Amino acid sequence: MSSKDLGITVRKTEDLSEWYTQVVTKAQLADYSSAKGFMILMPYGFAIWESIKEHFDRRIKEIGHRNAYFPLLIPERLLKREAEHFEGFTPEVFWVTHSGNNELGERLAIRPTSETIINEAYSRWVKSWRDLPVLINVWNSVLRAEITSTKPFIRTSEFLWQEGHTVHGTEEEAEREVLTILEIYRRLVEDQIAIPVLVGKKTEREKFKGAVYTTTLEAMMPDGKAIQMGTSHHLGQNFSKPFEIKYLGKDEKEHFAWTTSWGISWRLIGALIMSHGDDKGLILPPRVAPTQVVFVPISYKESDKETILQAANHIAEGLGKESIRTYIDDREQYTPGWKYHEWEMKGVPLRVEIGPRDMQSKQITMVRRDSGTKTAVPQADAITRIVNTLDEIQESLLHKARETQAKLTTTATDMKQFAHAIETSGGFVKAFLSENNNCEDNIKQETGATVRIVPLTQSEKGKCVYCGASNSREVVFARSY
Ligand SMILES: [Zn+2]
Repeated sequence: MSSKDLGITVRKTEDLSEWYTQVVTKAQLADYSSAKGFMILMPYGFAIWESIKEHFDRRIKEIGHRNAYFPLLIPERLLKREAEHFEGFTPEVFWVTHSGNNELGERLAIRPTSETIINEAYSRWVKSWRDLPVLINVWNSVLRAEITSTKPFIRTSEFLWQEGHTVHGTEEEAEREVLTILEIYRRLVEDQIAIPVLVGKKTEREKFKGAVYTTTLEAMMPDGKAIQMGTSHHLGQNFSKPFEIKYLGKDEKEHFAWTTSWGISWRLIGALIMSHGDDKGLILPPRVAPTQVVFVPISYKESDKETILQAANHIAEGLGKESIRTYIDDREQYTPGWKYHEWEMKGVPLRVEIGPRDMQSKQITMVRRDSGTKTAVPQADAITRIVNTLDEIQESLLHKARETQAKLTTTATDMKQFAHAIETSGGFVKAFLSENNNCEDNIKQETGATVRIVPLTQSEKGKCVYCGASNSREVVFARSY
């Protein structure tokens, strides 16, 4: 392979879709599979998923959640028990109809999400107020048939995710859980993945099928399309009633419980790629990067090699004590130039070059992936400087993404402005929308934009952007992935 093949052949600003596909495959994050619509998550992509997973897993365990596992297959009668839920998911369900050569008496759904099978178990586990709350999370994959073309991490028929399912004694407690998780998601996406989000509720039209309401996080991609980063649902008693999750209260009376569910998927990686990458490839925020610092030793003479490697090892060891993930690329079959290209493609936040001249002047050369800035740093200060620079990169990526989001956010008071915004730059369009008519549907049909969020706190009421009705609520529209 020549170094040209290794590089991205289109510019991100000119063809985001093609650029995206090339980054995914050339950075070896994921690959296509012979099963149409399904994606192979390669080791480097999996390592990023693990970073995200470990962080979130730690956060929810700190507040009492535990992990469990539930079956892949759901009997049809269970899936049907909550009518709206069943209707909402039916078009996407893969069905198992045979076991070996025998046709099954009852079809089994491959889980599109696990509310039904989990709530059935909860109905047996929850008996008294003493059993509450139930705070369980599951790391698994779910299958939803995708009719549109595959886009790795964004649109695949199977995806890795986590689904949390909780049971509470009161509505207030369930609603608090929904918001607690939403906030953990927000912190994960903004502080770890460096992508700013809008937080709010979904409309009736856009909510999770079966939920009382859905809260969501929405990010803006550079092409002006929004992407849903995670959802946290208040299920009220919509599942506890058909599934009979009841408990004996302190008042000695029987009560239906209140449940929630919430999830994030590997889609976060798709958003990360689109948000931060550039024409050279991926750019990873340091906090989720599997390798945060790559060392490239440069020696032309055999005699230099050992001292240079020693210096690299010494600094890497010191960084290890600061919990910084490093890799020393001492592969002899590749030139330094080749290695630079490869690690730039893979988005490693910081490259450290150490050559004979660096050794002479007792320094290292630090190269930032995000800005390309090269800095000579005394070897004695290397660890502090590297740790600080990683923090700076993390901050700078979030700052840049915030600027993009701000640039791609407009306000529309009538449909002319609205259509213009959606057709030109896209982005988030803030507007007022009336509640009790077809304005939302019509806007979607006419412009392709949907309501991404209804802000949790409404600052003011205004005139509906579509019909002009006064006293309408504030919402944010966008076209989306
Ligand atoms: Zn209206």
